[in-house]
Amino acid sequence: MIVVQKYGGSSVADTDRIRRVAGRVAQAKRAGNDVVVVVSAMGRMTDRLMQQAHEISGVPPGRELDMLLTAGERISMSLLAMAIHEEGLSARSLTGSQAGIITDTVHGKARIIDITPGRISDALDGGHVAIVAGFQGVSRDSKDVTTLGRGGSDTTAVALAGALGAPVCEIHTDVDGVYTADPRIAPDARKLTQVSHEEMLELAACGAKVLQVRSVEYARNHGVDVHVRSSFTYGDGTWVRRQEEDMEQAMVSGVAHDTSEGKLVLRNVPDKPGVAARVFSALADNAINVDMIVQNVSAAGTTDISFTVPLDDGPRAVELLRGLLVDIGAEDLDFDDAIAKVSLVGAGMKTHPGVAAAMFTALADAGVNIEMISTSTIRISVVVRGEAVETAVRAVHDRFGLATPGTPTGTSVGWSS
Ligand code: ADP
Ligand code: ASP
Ligand code: MG
Repeated sequence: MIVVQKYGGSSVADTDRIRRVAGRVAQAKRAGNDVVVVVSAMGRMTDRLMQQAHEISGVPPGRELDMLLTAGERISMSLLAMAIHEEGLSARSLTGSQAGIITDTVHGKARIIDITPGRISDALDGGHVAIVAGFQGVSRDSKDVTTLGRGGSDTTAVALAGALGAPVCEIHTDVDGVYTADPRIAPDARKLTQVSHEEMLELAACGAKVLQVRSVEYARNHGVDVHVRSSFTYGDGTWVRRQEEDMEQAMVSGVAHDTSEGKLVLRNVPDKPGVAARVFSALADNAINVDMIVQNVSAAGTTDISFTVPLDDGPRAVELLRGLLVDIGAEDLDFDDAIAKVSLVGAGMKTHPGVAAAMFTALADAGVNIEMISTSTIRISVVVRGEAVETAVRAVHDRFGLATPGTPTGTSVGWSS
């Protein structure tokens, strides 16, 4: 059987942890499996490299930034290969490019467009453990190295599991599963036994960074089952899989939060056809992802348009739209970087009225003001002040009874790093 295991940054943060991972890999290999391991950069290496790049350059060229960041995963893959040799087994480490991860050319958030895993298969056929550097690929057009966006090693692992026909993709991380909220914020959060691709997609898109959004998208589109589990212990974690008829459907599955976005407000925009199209086309043409969009009711022929964008893209979005202000006839714009988004997700909410009311009441009772609201069939998201995020998450989590029965608030569950 082919086993695909991914180990995140904190699981390979130092040499002791790399040795421990090697032991776990060796165990899977000795059990008779063909083992493919995807690794992240050690600890906060990617953050550090990113910071160094920004010390040198305000806007580092995307090609060079990707070249730099991919070095992080190369370090951990080769060290892990050495540690596996010490276990008495042989391993071959491969960069994303060597492993056949073919992407488009969008540096910093490239998409996988094809996988040609010939060298992985050769390594497995030769009896080796194949170790693949996560979060990276190569563009077929430019031949340059690309990265898949922060947290992208999850996507490398899921995509490889799909391409190699592995029955499951194991994501080994510093929590032992997907919880009803980030256990760092809601210590009484409960571990989910299973969650559908759709719900996990919403949770991840709303900030539950335990899985990168694109990895869940990939898993859903290619029918890959994902098992999120601890890299420190051996128990069962959370299964992310297709919603089956008989799968229990909780009304709400969890609360996610996101502090990585800012709010841009365009003031007094003429209320006429074509304005929103101009604004959002300009953002799209510059690969800026827009999230929540709210347009107010028109008063005296003008309206305000508010939306959220990733904080990293904020300065670029502001510069871009400032250049368009006169053109579209808007009065002004401002950017607020002190917001947070809190989202409630659950497949069952489609058929249960009153979920939004209960969520808003919980926030009101906790004294949290709501600045924006958006919904999908299985999600309600609100924007609140950044400093209110923890209060908001706990209030909503409590209101929907998501806590582990009997766990006193303040008890740490989950991760052991
Ligand atoms: P890795 O380095 O292994 O990729 P990440 O830091 O990317 O790990 O993701 C794991 C972290 O995700 C956890 O430590 C936890 O704080 C956070 N997290 C956010 N929301 C959730 C959730 N609903 N369930 C579990 N973990 C969550
Ligand atoms: N090392 C990369 C990051 O920190 C990719 C990953 O860990 O998944 O974002
Ligand atoms: Mg991650």
